[in-house]
Amino acid sequence: MAYDTIYDVIVCGAGTSGVAAAIGAARTGAKTLLVERTGTMGGQMSLSGPPGFAYARLFNPQGKRDIGGIVEETYQRLFRTGHALPHLRYPVREKAGYSFSYVDPEWWTMLMFEMMDEEGVELLLDTLVVGVTKDGGAVTGITVENANGRNEIRGKIVIDCTGEGYVAAQAGCQMDCVSREDIQPHTLAFTVDGVDWDTLLTYIREHPEQFSYRQLIFPYENANTQEDVMEMYRKCHDITELGELMGFYQLRDMAFKNGDWHPYSGAGFFLTPREGGHIQAHFQHSSQVDHALPTDAWDLTRCMVECRKQNLIAWRFFKNYVPGFKNAYITKVCTELRLREGPRIVGDYILTRDDVAECRQFADTIGKSSFKAGAYHVSSMDTLNACVTYPHHPRRRGHHGGGGQAGETDCCGPPAGPVRRACGRPPAGADGTLPRAEAGLCLPGDGGAGRGPAVGPGPSARAVLLKYGGVFGVFGRFSQLAVSTEVSHENIGNRPQRDGLPGRDGCGHPGHPGGRGAQPGV
Ligand SMILES: Cc1cc2nc3c(=O)[nH]c(=O)nc-3n(C[C@H](O)[C@H](O)[C@H](O)COP(=O)(O)OP(=O)(O)OC[C@H]3O[C@@H](n4cnc5c(N)ncnc54)[C@H](O)[C@@H]3O)c2cc1C
Repeated sequence: MAYDTIYDVIVCGAGTSGVAAAIGAARTGAKTLLVERTGTMGGQMSLSGPPGFAYARLFNPQGKRDIGGIVEETYQRLFRTGHALPHLRYPVREKAGYSFSYVDPEWWTMLMFEMMDEEGVELLLDTLVVGVTKDGGAVTGITVENANGRNEIRGKIVIDCTGEGYVAAQAGCQMDCVSREDIQPHTLAFTVDGVDWDTLLTYIREHPEQFSYRQLIFPYENANTQEDVMEMYRKCHDITELGELMGFYQLRDMAFKNGDWHPYSGAGFFLTPREGGHIQAHFQHSSQVDHALPTDAWDLTRCMVECRKQNLIAWRFFKNYVPGFKNAYITKVCTELRLREGPRIVGDYILTRDDVAECRQFADTIGKSSFKAGAYHVSSMDTLNACVTYPHHPRRRGHHGGGGQAGETDCCGPPAGPVRRACGRPPAGADGTLPRAEAGLCLPGDGGAGRGPAVGPGPSARAVLLKYGGVFGVFGRFSQLAVSTEVSHENIGNRPQRDGLPGRDGCGHPGHPGGRGAQPGV
Protein backbone atom coordinates (compact mmCIF):
# COMPACT_ATOMS: atom_id res chain seq x y z
CA MET A 1 0.00 0.00 0.00
CA ALA A 2 1.17 3.58 -0.66
CA TYR A 3 0.54 6.21 1.98
CA ASP A 4 -1.28 9.39 0.85
CA THR A 5 1.30 11.89 2.05
CA ILE A 6 3.90 13.02 -0.48
CA TYR A 7 7.04 14.34 1.21
CA ASP A 8 9.31 16.94 -0.32
CA VAL A 9 12.33 15.15 1.09
CA ILE A 10 12.74 11.62 2.46
CA VAL A 11 16.00 10.96 4.25
CA CYS A 12 16.89 7.28 4.67
CA GLY A 13 19.06 6.53 7.71
CA ALA A 14 19.31 8.67 10.86
CA GLY A 15 23.05 8.57 11.42
CA THR A 16 25.03 11.77 11.73
CA SER A 17 24.61 12.60 8.05
CA GLY A 18 20.92 11.70 7.99
CA VAL A 19 19.94 13.91 10.90
CA ALA A 20 21.87 16.83 9.44
CA ALA A 21 20.28 16.38 6.02
CA ALA A 22 16.82 16.21 7.60
CA ILE A 23 17.38 19.34 9.69
CA GLY A 24 18.80 21.16 6.66
CA ALA A 25 15.80 20.25 4.54
CA ALA A 26 13.24 21.08 7.21
CA ARG A 27 14.83 24.46 7.88
CA THR A 28 14.15 25.49 4.32
CA GLY A 29 10.51 24.58 4.70
CA ALA A 30 10.56 21.13 3.09
CA LYS A 31 8.08 18.58 4.37
CA THR A 32 10.69 16.11 5.56
CA LEU A 33 10.57 12.47 6.66
CA LEU A 34 13.51 10.76 8.35
CA VAL A 35 13.34 6.94 8.18
CA GLU A 36 15.55 4.81 10.41
CA ARG A 37 16.11 1.06 10.73
CA THR A 38 16.62 1.14 14.53
CA GLY A 39 14.71 2.83 17.32
CA THR A 40 17.24 5.59 17.80
CA MET A 41 19.33 8.17 15.98
CA GLY A 42 23.05 8.57 15.57
CA GLY A 43 24.09 5.50 13.60
CA GLN A 44 27.77 4.87 14.26
CA MET A 45 27.75 7.69 16.78
CA SER A 46 25.35 5.92 19.12
CA LEU A 47 25.20 2.28 17.98
CA SER A 48 28.87 1.50 17.58
CA GLY A 49 30.72 4.42 19.17
CA PRO A 50 32.63 6.61 18.97
CA PRO A 51 32.65 8.56 22.20
CA GLY A 52 31.90 11.82 20.51
CA PHE A 53 35.23 11.39 18.82
CA ALA A 54 33.30 12.30 15.73
CA TYR A 55 33.69 15.87 16.83
CA ALA A 56 37.36 15.67 16.08
CA ARG A 57 38.69 18.47 14.02
CA LEU A 58 36.34 21.33 14.75
CA PHE A 59 39.66 23.16 14.74
CA ASN A 60 42.57 22.82 12.37
CA PRO A 61 46.16 22.46 13.54
CA GLN A 62 46.56 26.20 13.73
CA GLY A 63 43.70 26.33 16.18
CA LYS A 64 41.38 27.97 13.66
CA ARG A 65 37.83 26.75 13.47
CA ASP A 66 37.46 24.35 10.58
CA ILE A 67 33.95 23.09 10.88
CA GLY A 68 30.71 24.89 11.43
CA GLY A 69 27.08 24.33 10.68
CA ILE A 70 25.06 21.76 12.56
CA VAL A 71 28.16 20.18 14.03
CA GLU A 72 29.25 23.34 15.79
CA GLU A 73 25.65 24.18 16.71
CA THR A 74 25.05 20.82 18.39
CA TYR A 75 28.45 20.91 20.06
CA GLN A 76 27.67 24.30 21.61
CA ARG A 77 24.28 23.13 22.83
CA LEU A 78 25.81 20.07 24.45
CA PHE A 79 28.67 22.05 25.93
CA ARG A 80 26.29 24.57 27.50
CA THR A 81 24.39 21.75 29.21
CA GLY A 82 27.54 20.00 30.45
CA HIS A 83 27.50 17.17 27.93
CA ALA A 84 30.65 17.98 26.01
CA LEU A 85 34.27 18.52 26.92
CA PRO A 86 35.90 21.82 25.98
CA HIS A 87 37.64 21.88 22.62
CA LEU A 88 41.15 20.67 23.23
CA ARG A 89 43.26 23.63 22.25
CA TYR A 90 46.45 23.10 24.18
CA PRO A 91 49.50 24.41 22.37
CA VAL A 92 50.87 20.99 21.56
CA ARG A 93 47.46 19.94 20.24
CA GLU A 94 47.11 22.97 18.03
CA LYS A 95 50.09 21.82 16.06
CA ALA A 96 48.84 18.26 16.10
CA GLY A 97 47.39 16.23 13.34
CA TYR A 98 43.97 16.48 14.87
CA SER A 99 42.15 17.87 17.84
CA PHE A 100 39.16 16.70 19.84
CA SER A 101 35.88 18.13 20.93
CA TYR A 102 34.23 15.23 22.70
CA VAL A 103 30.51 15.03 23.23
CA ASP A 104 28.47 12.55 25.26
CA PRO A 105 26.92 10.30 22.62
CA GLU A 106 23.84 9.49 24.72
CA TRP A 107 23.05 13.17 25.18
CA TRP A 108 23.85 13.84 21.55
CA THR A 109 21.07 11.39 20.68
CA MET A 110 18.67 12.99 23.16
CA LEU A 111 19.43 16.34 21.60
CA MET A 112 18.63 14.93 18.17
CA PHE A 113 15.16 13.86 19.32
CA GLU A 114 14.67 17.38 20.64
CA MET A 115 15.89 18.97 17.42
CA MET A 116 13.71 16.85 15.14
CA ASP A 117 10.78 18.09 17.17
CA GLU A 118 11.94 21.71 17.01
CA GLU A 119 12.53 21.58 13.27
CA GLY A 120 9.34 19.72 12.41
CA VAL A 121 11.08 16.67 10.93
CA GLU A 122 8.72 13.71 10.88
CA LEU A 123 10.34 10.54 12.20
CA LEU A 124 9.70 6.94 11.22
CA LEU A 125 11.78 4.61 13.39
CA ASP A 126 12.13 0.82 13.44
CA THR A 127 11.65 0.87 9.72
CA LEU A 128 13.88 -0.70 7.10
CA VAL A 129 14.05 0.87 3.67
CA VAL A 130 14.05 -2.12 1.34
CA GLY A 131 13.75 -0.48 -2.04
CA VAL A 132 12.72 2.49 -4.12
CA THR A 133 9.70 3.11 -6.27
CA LYS A 134 10.31 4.47 -9.75
CA ASP A 135 8.45 6.01 -12.61
CA GLY A 136 10.62 5.15 -15.60
CA GLY A 137 14.12 6.09 -14.47
CA ALA A 138 12.86 8.56 -11.89
CA VAL A 139 12.80 7.75 -8.20
CA THR A 140 9.38 8.58 -6.78
CA GLY A 141 9.68 7.21 -3.25
CA ILE A 142 10.77 4.31 -1.07
CA THR A 143 9.49 0.90 -0.06
CA VAL A 144 9.71 0.19 3.65
CA GLU A 145 9.19 -2.80 5.93
CA ASN A 146 8.19 -2.42 9.56
CA ALA A 147 5.54 -3.48 12.06
CA ASN A 148 2.91 -2.28 9.58
CA GLY A 149 4.14 -4.65 6.91
CA ARG A 150 5.49 -3.60 3.53
CA ASN A 151 4.44 -0.16 2.31
CA GLU A 152 5.39 2.64 -0.04
CA ILE A 153 6.13 6.22 0.90
CA ARG A 154 6.27 8.85 -1.80
CA GLY A 155 8.84 11.64 -1.90
CA LYS A 156 10.11 14.20 -4.40
CA ILE A 157 13.68 13.83 -3.24
CA VAL A 158 15.21 10.77 -1.63
CA ILE A 159 18.51 11.16 0.22
CA ASP A 160 20.46 8.01 0.99
CA CYS A 161 22.21 8.26 4.35
CA THR A 162 22.17 4.56 5.16
CA GLY A 163 25.93 4.33 5.43
CA GLU A 164 26.10 1.45 2.97
CA GLY A 165 24.45 3.12 0.00
CA TYR A 166 21.66 0.61 0.27
CA VAL A 167 19.00 2.86 -1.24
CA ALA A 168 21.26 4.05 -4.03
CA ALA A 169 22.04 0.47 -4.95
CA GLN A 170 18.33 -0.33 -5.01
CA ALA A 171 17.80 2.66 -7.28
CA GLY A 172 20.33 1.22 -9.69
CA CYS A 173 23.13 3.71 -9.11
CA GLN A 174 26.63 2.59 -9.94
CA MET A 175 28.35 1.16 -6.89
CA ASP A 176 31.88 0.16 -6.07
CA CYS A 177 33.34 -1.79 -3.20
CA VAL A 178 36.80 -2.68 -2.09
CA SER A 179 37.48 -6.41 -2.19
CA ARG A 180 37.20 -8.72 0.81
CA GLU A 181 40.98 -9.11 0.72
CA ASP A 182 41.71 -5.38 0.84
CA ILE A 183 38.97 -4.02 3.06
CA GLN A 184 40.04 -2.24 6.24
CA PRO A 185 39.44 -4.15 9.46
CA HIS A 186 36.30 -3.45 11.47
CA THR A 187 36.10 -2.95 15.20
CA LEU A 188 33.73 -3.52 18.10
CA ALA A 189 34.00 -0.70 20.64
CA PHE A 190 33.35 -0.85 24.40
CA THR A 191 33.22 1.67 27.23
CA VAL A 192 34.62 1.37 30.74
CA ASP A 193 34.05 3.13 34.06
CA GLY A 194 35.63 2.86 37.51
CA VAL A 195 39.13 3.79 36.34
CA ASP A 196 41.34 5.35 39.00
CA TRP A 197 42.44 8.28 36.85
CA ASP A 198 44.94 9.64 39.41
CA THR A 199 46.83 6.34 39.49
CA LEU A 200 46.86 6.18 35.72
CA LEU A 201 47.97 9.80 35.43
CA THR A 202 50.88 9.17 37.77
CA TYR A 203 51.97 6.29 35.54
CA ILE A 204 51.66 8.46 32.42
CA ARG A 205 53.69 11.28 33.93
CA GLU A 206 56.42 8.89 35.02
CA HIS A 207 56.50 6.92 31.75
CA PRO A 208 55.83 9.41 28.96
CA GLU A 209 57.91 7.38 26.54
CA GLN A 210 55.37 4.56 26.78
CA PHE A 211 52.76 6.48 24.81
CA SER A 212 52.19 7.28 21.23
CA TYR A 213 53.31 10.69 20.06
CA ARG A 214 53.01 10.49 16.31
CA GLN A 215 49.48 11.85 16.12
CA LEU A 216 50.71 14.91 17.96
CA ILE A 217 53.45 15.45 15.49
CA PHE A 218 51.48 15.15 12.27
CA PRO A 219 51.33 17.11 10.18
CA TYR A 220 53.97 19.54 11.32
CA GLU A 221 56.78 17.29 12.22
CA ASN A 222 59.06 20.27 12.28
CA ALA A 223 56.84 22.03 14.81
CA ASN A 224 56.31 19.40 17.53
CA THR A 225 59.25 17.29 18.49
CA GLN A 226 58.96 14.02 20.30
CA GLU A 227 60.44 15.81 23.31
CA ASP A 228 57.60 18.43 23.18
CA VAL A 229 55.13 15.62 23.41
CA MET A 230 57.00 13.82 26.20
CA GLU A 231 56.94 17.08 28.11
CA MET A 232 53.20 17.32 27.62
CA TYR A 233 52.76 13.87 29.15
CA ARG A 234 55.11 14.72 32.01
CA LYS A 235 53.27 17.92 32.89
CA CYS A 236 49.75 16.74 32.31
CA HIS A 237 47.55 17.40 35.33
CA ASP A 238 44.18 16.45 33.86
CA ILE A 239 43.63 13.32 31.80
CA THR A 240 41.08 15.05 29.57
CA GLU A 241 43.89 17.23 28.22
CA LEU A 242 45.24 14.19 26.43
CA GLY A 243 42.09 13.27 24.54
CA GLU A 244 43.38 9.83 23.71
CA LEU A 245 45.94 7.44 25.11
CA MET A 246 47.52 4.89 22.83
CA GLY A 247 50.68 2.95 23.57
CA PHE A 248 51.34 1.26 26.93
CA TYR A 249 54.19 -0.28 24.96
CA GLN A 250 56.22 -1.90 27.73
CA LEU A 251 53.16 -3.34 29.49
CA ARG A 252 51.74 -4.58 26.24
CA ASP A 253 55.03 -6.26 25.24
CA MET A 254 55.22 -7.91 28.63
CA ALA A 255 51.66 -9.16 28.27
CA PHE A 256 52.38 -10.36 24.77
CA LYS A 257 55.29 -12.47 26.04
CA ASN A 258 53.02 -13.92 28.71
CA GLY A 259 50.37 -14.81 26.15
CA ASP A 260 48.05 -12.13 27.55
CA TRP A 261 47.89 -9.83 24.53
CA HIS A 262 46.82 -10.34 20.96
CA PRO A 263 48.69 -9.04 17.92
CA TYR A 264 45.72 -7.50 16.13
CA SER A 265 45.48 -3.97 17.42
CA GLY A 266 46.99 -1.26 19.55
CA ALA A 267 46.48 -0.78 23.28
CA GLY A 268 44.64 2.36 24.29
CA PHE A 269 41.42 4.28 24.45
CA PHE A 270 39.65 7.59 23.97
CA LEU A 271 37.54 9.53 26.44
CA THR A 272 33.79 9.83 26.71
CA PRO A 273 32.37 12.72 28.70
CA ARG A 274 29.61 11.83 31.14
CA GLU A 275 27.34 13.88 33.33
CA GLY A 276 28.74 15.77 36.28
CA GLY A 277 32.20 16.08 34.75
CA HIS A 278 32.82 12.31 34.75
CA ILE A 279 34.69 10.65 31.96
CA GLN A 280 34.82 7.07 30.78
CA ALA A 281 37.40 5.21 28.74
CA HIS A 282 36.17 4.20 25.31
CA PHE A 283 38.08 1.42 23.58
CA GLN A 284 37.84 1.84 19.87
CA HIS A 285 40.83 -0.04 18.53
CA SER A 286 41.03 -3.07 20.82
CA SER A 287 39.63 -5.42 18.22
CA GLN A 288 40.28 -5.40 14.52
CA VAL A 289 39.05 -8.06 12.14
CA ASP A 290 39.96 -8.20 8.47
CA HIS A 291 38.23 -9.53 5.39
CA ALA A 292 34.64 -8.75 6.35
CA LEU A 293 32.35 -7.15 3.79
CA PRO A 294 29.48 -5.12 5.26
CA THR A 295 27.37 -6.47 2.41
CA ASP A 296 27.70 -10.04 3.71
CA ALA A 297 25.89 -10.96 6.93
CA TRP A 298 28.04 -14.11 7.35
CA ASP A 299 31.15 -11.94 7.25
CA LEU A 300 29.66 -9.50 9.74
CA THR A 301 28.74 -12.30 12.11
CA ARG A 302 32.22 -13.82 11.98
CA CYS A 303 33.68 -10.37 12.51
CA MET A 304 31.46 -9.70 15.54
CA VAL A 305 32.30 -13.07 17.16
CA GLU A 306 36.03 -12.56 16.65
CA CYS A 307 35.92 -8.93 17.84
CA ARG A 308 34.30 -10.04 21.09
CA LYS A 309 37.16 -12.51 21.68
CA GLN A 310 39.78 -9.84 20.99
CA ASN A 311 38.04 -7.34 23.23
CA LEU A 312 38.04 -9.81 26.08
CA ILE A 313 41.80 -10.28 25.75
CA ALA A 314 42.32 -6.51 25.67
CA TRP A 315 40.06 -5.99 28.64
CA ARG A 316 41.89 -8.60 30.76
CA PHE A 317 45.16 -6.92 29.83
CA PHE A 318 43.96 -3.53 31.08
CA LYS A 319 42.56 -5.03 34.30
CA ASN A 320 45.69 -6.99 35.11
CA TYR A 321 48.53 -4.88 33.77
CA VAL A 322 47.57 -1.20 33.54
CA PRO A 323 47.72 0.97 36.67
CA GLY A 324 44.31 2.39 37.59
CA PHE A 325 42.20 -0.34 35.97
CA LYS A 326 42.04 -2.84 38.86
CA ASN A 327 38.49 -1.90 39.85
CA ALA A 328 37.29 -0.74 36.47
CA TYR A 329 34.27 -2.35 34.83
CA ILE A 330 32.70 -2.47 31.39
CA THR A 331 29.57 -0.33 31.07
CA LYS A 332 28.74 -0.95 27.43
CA VAL A 333 29.75 -3.17 24.56
CA CYS A 334 28.40 -1.67 21.36
CA THR A 335 25.63 -3.56 19.64
CA GLU A 336 26.97 -3.00 16.15
CA LEU A 337 30.38 -3.12 14.53
CA ARG A 338 32.26 0.02 13.78
CA LEU A 339 32.60 -0.38 10.04
CA ARG A 340 35.60 1.26 8.53
CA GLU A 341 34.75 0.62 4.94
CA GLY A 342 31.97 -0.62 2.72
CA PRO A 343 30.30 -0.11 -0.62
CA ARG A 344 30.81 3.22 -2.34
CA ILE A 345 28.38 5.09 -4.49
CA VAL A 346 30.02 6.17 -7.71
CA GLY A 347 29.45 9.89 -7.79
CA ASP A 348 28.39 11.94 -10.74
CA TYR A 349 31.77 13.57 -10.45
CA ILE A 350 34.89 11.68 -9.41
CA LEU A 351 37.71 13.59 -7.84
CA THR A 352 41.04 13.10 -9.53
CA ARG A 353 44.50 13.00 -8.07
CA ASP A 354 45.11 16.45 -9.50
CA ASP A 355 41.97 17.82 -7.84
CA VAL A 356 43.37 16.70 -4.55
CA ALA A 357 46.93 17.76 -5.14
CA GLU A 358 45.88 21.21 -6.33
CA CYS A 359 43.26 21.76 -3.63
CA ARG A 360 40.98 22.46 -6.57
CA GLN A 361 37.86 24.56 -6.20
CA PHE A 362 34.60 23.85 -8.00
CA ALA A 363 31.71 26.11 -8.87
CA ASP A 364 29.41 23.80 -6.96
CA THR A 365 31.58 23.27 -3.91
CA ILE A 366 29.54 22.84 -0.77
CA GLY A 367 32.19 21.77 1.69
CA LYS A 368 35.73 20.77 2.30
CA SER A 369 37.26 17.74 3.80
CA SER A 370 39.57 18.91 6.48
CA PHE A 371 40.22 15.61 8.16
CA LYS A 372 43.80 14.66 7.96
CA ALA A 373 42.98 10.99 7.61
CA GLY A 374 44.74 9.58 4.65
CA ALA A 375 42.58 9.28 1.65
CA TYR A 376 43.40 6.31 -0.44
CA HIS A 377 42.12 4.61 -3.47
CA VAL A 378 40.14 1.50 -2.79
CA SER A 379 42.36 -0.45 -5.10
CA SER A 380 45.56 0.54 -3.33
CA MET A 381 46.39 1.57 0.20
CA ASP A 382 49.21 3.56 -1.24
CA THR A 383 47.61 6.03 -3.57
CA LEU A 384 48.51 9.14 -1.69
CA ASN A 385 51.97 8.00 -0.85
CA ALA A 386 52.51 7.62 -4.51
CA CYS A 387 51.00 10.72 -5.89
CA VAL A 388 49.62 13.48 -3.78
CA THR A 389 51.52 16.51 -2.72
CA TYR A 390 49.93 19.62 -1.39
CA PRO A 391 51.23 22.76 -3.00
CA HIS A 392 49.96 24.91 -0.17
CA HIS A 393 51.65 23.22 2.69
CA PRO A 394 55.22 23.45 3.80
CA ARG A 395 56.26 19.87 3.54
CA ARG A 396 54.76 19.06 0.17
CA ARG A 397 54.56 15.42 0.86
CA GLY A 398 51.68 13.03 0.96
CA HIS A 399 51.64 10.61 3.79
CA HIS A 400 49.41 7.75 4.64
CA GLY A 401 49.92 5.93 7.84
CA GLY A 402 47.67 5.58 10.81
CA GLY A 403 45.28 7.78 8.93
CA GLY A 404 47.70 10.69 8.59
CA GLN A 405 47.74 13.07 5.69
CA ALA A 406 50.69 15.30 6.22
CA GLY A 407 50.20 18.97 5.98
CA GLU A 408 46.99 19.11 4.09
CA THR A 409 45.36 21.32 6.64
CA ASP A 410 47.79 24.13 6.02
CA CYS A 411 45.31 25.22 3.45
CA CYS A 412 41.77 24.14 3.85
CA GLY A 413 41.80 20.42 3.70
CA PRO A 414 42.23 18.64 0.49
CA PRO A 415 39.57 18.50 -2.09
CA ALA A 416 36.57 20.66 -2.41
CA GLY A 417 33.34 18.73 -2.23
CA PRO A 418 31.33 19.43 -5.34
CA VAL A 419 27.65 18.62 -5.11
CA ARG A 420 27.95 16.48 -8.21
CA ARG A 421 30.27 14.17 -6.36
CA ALA A 422 27.48 13.11 -4.09
CA CYS A 423 24.85 12.61 -6.72
CA GLY A 424 24.78 9.00 -7.77
CA ARG A 425 25.53 8.00 -11.31
CA PRO A 426 22.79 6.38 -13.30
CA PRO A 427 23.29 2.76 -14.32
CA ALA A 428 25.97 2.09 -16.89
CA GLY A 429 24.70 2.49 -20.41
CA ALA A 430 22.00 4.94 -19.44
CA ASP A 431 21.82 8.32 -21.09
CA GLY A 432 24.65 10.50 -19.79
CA THR A 433 22.30 13.12 -18.42
CA LEU A 434 20.44 12.15 -15.31
CA PRO A 435 16.69 12.22 -15.53
CA ARG A 436 15.38 14.98 -13.32
CA ALA A 437 14.04 12.91 -10.47
CA GLU A 438 16.96 10.55 -10.54
CA ALA A 439 19.22 13.51 -10.08
CA GLY A 440 17.08 14.22 -7.09
CA LEU A 441 18.42 11.09 -5.53
CA CYS A 442 21.13 12.74 -3.59
CA LEU A 443 23.67 10.54 -1.92
CA PRO A 444 25.88 10.83 1.07
CA GLY A 445 29.36 11.46 -0.07
CA ASP A 446 32.88 10.70 0.69
CA GLY A 447 35.50 8.35 1.93
CA GLY A 448 35.24 5.36 4.16
CA ALA A 449 34.29 5.71 7.77
CA GLY A 450 37.15 7.25 9.59
CA ARG A 451 38.99 7.72 6.35
CA GLY A 452 39.41 10.75 4.22
CA PRO A 453 37.66 11.19 0.96
CA ALA A 454 40.27 12.54 -1.35
CA VAL A 455 40.88 10.00 -4.05
CA GLY A 456 38.71 7.16 -5.11
CA PRO A 457 36.39 5.97 -7.76
CA GLY A 458 33.59 7.75 -6.04
CA PRO A 459 32.17 8.70 -2.72
CA SER A 460 31.73 6.03 -0.17
CA ALA A 461 28.27 5.17 0.83
CA ARG A 462 29.17 6.19 4.33
CA ALA A 463 29.36 9.92 4.72
CA VAL A 464 32.85 10.47 5.80
CA LEU A 465 32.82 12.31 9.06
CA LEU A 466 30.39 13.82 11.35
CA LYS A 467 31.65 17.20 10.38
CA TYR A 468 30.26 16.38 7.02
CA GLY A 469 27.01 16.63 8.87
CA GLY A 470 27.46 20.30 8.10
CA VAL A 471 27.68 19.45 4.45
CA PHE A 472 24.69 17.19 4.67
CA GLY A 473 22.75 19.99 6.21
CA VAL A 474 23.51 21.89 3.05
CA PHE A 475 22.35 18.92 1.04
CA GLY A 476 19.07 19.10 2.84
CA ARG A 477 18.76 22.73 1.81
CA PHE A 478 19.71 21.92 -1.75
CA SER A 479 17.00 19.32 -1.80
CA GLN A 480 14.37 21.87 -0.98
CA LEU A 481 15.77 24.19 -3.66
CA ALA A 482 15.62 21.33 -6.11
CA VAL A 483 11.98 20.77 -5.26
CA SER A 484 10.97 24.40 -5.38
CA THR A 485 12.94 25.38 -8.48
CA GLU A 486 12.78 22.08 -10.34
CA VAL A 487 16.51 22.24 -10.90
CA SER A 488 18.60 19.18 -10.22
CA HIS A 489 21.16 19.12 -7.41
CA GLU A 490 24.14 19.26 -9.67
CA ASN A 491 22.81 22.30 -11.48
CA ILE A 492 21.78 24.10 -8.36
CA GLY A 493 25.46 24.18 -7.55
CA ASN A 494 25.95 26.71 -10.33
CA ARG A 495 22.83 28.77 -9.93
CA PRO A 496 22.30 32.09 -8.28
CA GLN A 497 20.05 30.56 -5.61
CA ARG A 498 23.19 29.08 -4.20
CA ASP A 499 24.38 32.49 -3.19
CA GLY A 500 21.89 32.48 -0.38
CA LEU A 501 23.50 29.41 1.12
CA PRO A 502 26.09 29.61 3.82
CA GLY A 503 29.25 27.62 3.38
CA ARG A 504 29.39 28.60 -0.25
CA ASP A 505 33.12 28.35 -0.47
CA GLY A 506 33.56 25.97 2.35
CA CYS A 507 37.15 27.01 2.69
CA GLY A 508 38.29 28.94 5.69
CA HIS A 509 41.61 29.93 4.25
CA PRO A 510 41.64 33.59 3.30
CA GLY A 511 44.62 33.16 1.01
CA HIS A 512 43.07 30.38 -0.98
CA PRO A 513 41.31 31.14 -4.24
CA GLY A 514 37.65 31.39 -3.47
CA GLY A 515 38.29 31.02 0.25
CA ARG A 516 36.40 33.69 2.09
CA GLY A 517 36.40 32.21 5.48
CA ALA A 518 32.97 30.70 5.12
CA GLN A 519 32.20 27.51 6.98
CA PRO A 520 30.41 24.55 5.54
CA GLY A 521 27.18 24.30 7.34
CA VAL A 522 23.52 24.83 7.46
C1 LIG B 1 37.16 3.45 13.77
C2 LIG B 1 36.48 4.70 13.29
C3 LIG B 1 36.89 5.94 13.76
C4 LIG B 1 36.25 7.10 13.35
N1 LIG B 1 36.67 8.29 13.82
C5 LIG B 1 36.05 9.43 13.47
C6 LIG B 1 36.46 10.70 13.95
O1 LIG B 1 37.38 10.81 14.69
N2 LIG B 1 35.83 11.80 13.56
C7 LIG B 1 34.78 11.73 12.71
O2 LIG B 1 34.21 12.77 12.40
N3 LIG B 1 34.36 10.55 12.22
C8 LIG B 1 34.97 9.42 12.57
N4 LIG B 1 34.58 8.22 12.06
C9 LIG B 1 33.58 8.23 11.01
C10 LIG B 1 32.18 8.43 11.48
O3 LIG B 1 31.89 7.62 12.59
C11 LIG B 1 31.24 8.08 10.32
O4 LIG B 1 31.69 8.67 9.16
C12 LIG B 1 29.85 8.55 10.55
O5 LIG B 1 29.36 8.02 11.76
C13 LIG B 1 28.99 8.12 9.37
O6 LIG B 1 27.70 8.62 9.54
P1 LIG B 1 26.54 8.21 8.55
O7 LIG B 1 25.31 8.90 9.06
O8 LIG B 1 26.90 8.44 7.15
O9 LIG B 1 26.40 6.61 8.65
P2 LIG B 1 25.96 5.73 9.89
O10 LIG B 1 26.43 6.32 11.16
O11 LIG B 1 26.38 4.33 9.58
O12 LIG B 1 24.39 5.81 9.89
C14 LIG B 1 23.61 5.10 8.98
C15 LIG B 1 22.21 4.98 9.56
O13 LIG B 1 21.36 4.42 8.58
C16 LIG B 1 20.57 3.39 9.17
N5 LIG B 1 20.24 2.45 8.09
C17 LIG B 1 21.07 1.63 7.41
N6 LIG B 1 20.41 0.93 6.47
C18 LIG B 1 19.11 1.33 6.55
C19 LIG B 1 17.96 1.00 5.83
N7 LIG B 1 17.98 0.10 4.83
N8 LIG B 1 16.79 1.58 6.17
C20 LIG B 1 16.74 2.50 7.20
N9 LIG B 1 17.83 2.87 7.91
C21 LIG B 1 19.00 2.30 7.58
C22 LIG B 1 21.46 2.80 10.23
O14 LIG B 1 20.71 2.14 11.23
C23 LIG B 1 22.15 4.05 10.78
O15 LIG B 1 21.42 4.67 11.80
C24 LIG B 1 35.19 7.03 12.45
C25 LIG B 1 34.77 5.79 11.98
C26 LIG B 1 35.41 4.63 12.37
C27 LIG B 1 34.95 3.30 11.84
